[in-house]
Amino acid sequence: MDASVQRDLIDAVARRIVDHTEELTQLDQAIGDGDHGLNMKRGAEAVLAEIDKHAATPLPDALQAIGMTLVMKVGGASGPLFGTLFMALGKELPADPSRGDIVRAFGAAIEAVKARGKSDVGQKTMLDALAPARDAIAAGDDPAAAAQAAAMATIPMKAVRGRASFLGERSIGHMDPGARSSALMMAAVCEVVERV
Ligand code: ADP
Ligand code: MG
Repeated sequence: MDASVQRDLIDAVARRIVDHTEELTQLDQAIGDGDHGLNMKRGAEAVLAEIDKHAATPLPDALQAIGMTLVMKVGGASGPLFGTLFMALGKELPADPSRGDIVRAFGAAIEAVKARGKSDVGQKTMLDALAPARDAIAAGDDPAAAAQAAAMATIPMKAVRGRASFLGERSIGHMDPGARSSALMMAAVCEVVERV
């Protein structure tokens, strides 16, 4: 992949998270412990601090390095899970991926998150935004729109994984923070890809 496109992608995703710190904080205050915004911001800023290195590295290695940074810096439940997502993408994607490569690698990365989180689609987590985004890419639909609609669709769900599950029925009526951060990242990716 072109180094400047790769740089724009990483930059856009990380900045989008930083710009939405407050929103993610508020979502996690409603059904968690309120740290998701700052967790993700800390990870995004650590990635931005190394953007020159990430842009100059072949895409698979850059994604793996980003995944490791997220594991180390984000913390909480979401750090290891988003870390796993990016590390698996790095492991599965070639340096210049086709759409087919992306669908397959994204699917494998989602499976890796499920294994790590002992979780599945339908449990009010990041997986509820990630899986529909993958399906949209496979179908030739807009993955950003699909991820955001899917994040909205976590509002009526009852959490059965993660901290929000401690609330049981009271988790109903709020958007899952990790689903929203997933949708934000997907939107940033799509905006850069559309410009290329
Ligand atoms: P913590 O819950 O430890 O405070 P964060 O607030 O950073 O961590 O992240 C919470 C998000 O992590 C949730 O909104 C959810 O999307 C995601 N999450 C938590 N547990 C799991 C799991 N087992 N599988 C998938 N995603 C999960
Ligand atoms: Mg939290």
